[in-house]
Amino acid sequence: MPSRKFADGEVVMGRWPGSVLYYEVQVTSYDDVAHLYTVKYKDGTELALKESELRSQSSFKHRKSQSSSSSPSRRSSSRSRSRSRSPGRPAKGRRRSASQSREHKDDKKKTIQETSLALLVLVLFKPSENNTKRYNGEPESTEKNDTSCIILEEKLKPDLEIKRVLEQYSLRPRKDDKKKEEIYSEKKTFVAVKPIEKVPLKTKELEFGGRIGTFMLIFLLPATVLYLLLMCKQDDPSLLNFPPLPALESLWDGRVFGVFLLWFFLQAMFYLLPIGKVVEGLPLSNGQKLQYRINGVYAFILTAAAIGVLLYFQFELHYLYDHFMQFAVSAAVFSLALSIYLYARSLKAPEEELAPGGNSGYFIYDFFTGHELNPRIGSFDLKYFCELRPGLIGWVVINLAMLLAEMKIHNLSMPSLSMILVNSFQLLYVVDALWNEDAILTTMDITHDGFGFMLAFGDLVWVPFVYSLQAFYLVGHPTTITWPVAAAITVLNCIGYYIFRSANSQKNNFRRNPADPKLANLKFIPTATGKGLLVTGWWGFVRHPNYLGDIIMALAWSLPCGFNHILPYFYVIYFICLLVHREARDEHHCKQKYGLAWERYCQRVPYRIFPYIY
Ligand code: NDP
Repeated sequence: MPSRKFADGEVVMGRWPGSVLYYEVQVTSYDDVAHLYTVKYKDGTELALKESELRSQSSFKHRKSQSSSSSPSRRSSSRSRSRSRSPGRPAKGRRRSASQSREHKDDKKKTIQETSLALLVLVLFKPSENNTKRYNGEPESTEKNDTSCIILEEKLKPDLEIKRVLEQYSLRPRKDDKKKEEIYSEKKTFVAVKPIEKVPLKTKELEFGGRIGTFMLIFLLPATVLYLLLMCKQDDPSLLNFPPLPALESLWDGRVFGVFLLWFFLQAMFYLLPIGKVVEGLPLSNGQKLQYRINGVYAFILTAAAIGVLLYFQFELHYLYDHFMQFAVSAAVFSLALSIYLYARSLKAPEEELAPGGNSGYFIYDFFTGHELNPRIGSFDLKYFCELRPGLIGWVVINLAMLLAEMKIHNLSMPSLSMILVNSFQLLYVVDALWNEDAILTTMDITHDGFGFMLAFGDLVWVPFVYSLQAFYLVGHPTTITWPVAAAITVLNCIGYYIFRSANSQKNNFRRNPADPKLANLKFIPTATGKGLLVTGWWGFVRHPNYLGDIIMALAWSLPCGFNHILPYFYVIYFICLLVHREARDEHHCKQKYGLAWERYCQRVPYRIFPYIY
């Protein structure tokens, strides 16, 4: 096995993938198995490069001084190429002059060329959307009201200097003059993206407290669900009134498990129905795009019809309330079995299909965060299915069961106002998620996190059994609220929903079509990845306006439960912690993706979630 040439910490010149450009990088580590160096650019961007893509600085300088060409492309180029094509070399006319002032001018010109080069790299090597480790040189311009591609083309058009750089660097096939003409003449021509070979990286920065943290979470999460449900069953659910532990055998019921399986496979059947459009996800590391069927709303309607039929035939949905704990345990057992299956199959998955966030090489960490990014059985996408179907739709069914249980237990002809509010608010939230189902394809859960215990347990246990806590609480702890209070809470929920929905839509629309005339009034910072960062509208208000709206809604879901106990406020407290942590994770990923552009965005929009607070 050949030994490595460059040591950790060494500063060398690294080739920018797909181009002939070299930048100063620092070696941070070396992967003996893949024979790849992880290198860090000056702005903090990390890339994995092969040894052949690295050169020592001295050899670089040496060659530069030997000949006026410092371009690596020049060394390999044929004689037919003009010498003036070298990026390190002044243009022909200027080279003839020997005067000092002229040389100074040439240097300036070179600087302009280098600046322009960033733009060219941006246009010609625009990476795919989910590519997180990229060159992050930020272009000079910071705000435009149009798409980044258009801005660049407009900038290119009059700038002959850049045109020359384009020729010098051979960034496109040189014979393709017709295409070149199009770039300069047509304002709205989007330049073909040259694919960059992507190399899967090992997960180096461990989240969730690393191996110890994830190990503890595997026990802590189920224990928390158990604790919350036991507390909710108590007459006095005060924090200090610790519930007695139930007998183990009382937690398991084979029939309940059977009902759970029936539910899961019924949802799977709905998911497989060939109704609804098929959309493409974001490009994967190998450039491929997976296809997803969007039929969550149909699944919801079919489920509602099935529940309606059950109720019509006098089926007691109350059964869910009576066996709530056993259902939660069944879902937990199922999610554990699913996680084991997912991890086992991930061991056979090709390296490129592993999750960027769950490929650490540590069993417990990868098991928790999910080793494989998009586990599929044929076209059945297990993660995508679990994210929105059995758990989310299950949450609504549980809420309905709680509403019916409340009416039955308290002998009511109508559910309480509190129960109606909780049910309606959460129904709106679920329907909204299903209505905008394709928006999930750009979330961290789909693009970054693998499918492991964290998402399996989160989707199948945490969401349906913890998010329905308010409704569960109201069955055992009736709370009366007045109409004005109900109206105020409704207004609060509407405000939260408005912020949540409009912020998410603004970003989703911008990502899908930045040239949308409806978004023409929004300003953004262009980045080297070709994607812009909005700095006006909701995303100029705080850095995660959608989280703000979500938290306001979470508060509105808890308020109908009154102020007797803190238990129904668990959701909003937990949710703030979750979103603050998620925000930090996202910031970290965005910093890696966008480098300096992200820093500028943070300067422009200093607050993360809560304006003037955080
Ligand atoms: P977000 O929708 O917040 O997306 C974050 C991404 O948006 C970033 O990675 C970046 O991705 C892009 N972005 C960030 N800033 C800007 C900007 N200024 N302009 C344009 N794009 C920007 O991700 P989440 O998946 O965390 O959240 C989605 C929704 O789901 C939220 O409303 C959240 O509240 C909700 N949620 C609900 C949970 C629940 O349990 N109820 C749990 C988690 C989330 P890129 O640039 O690559 O496009």
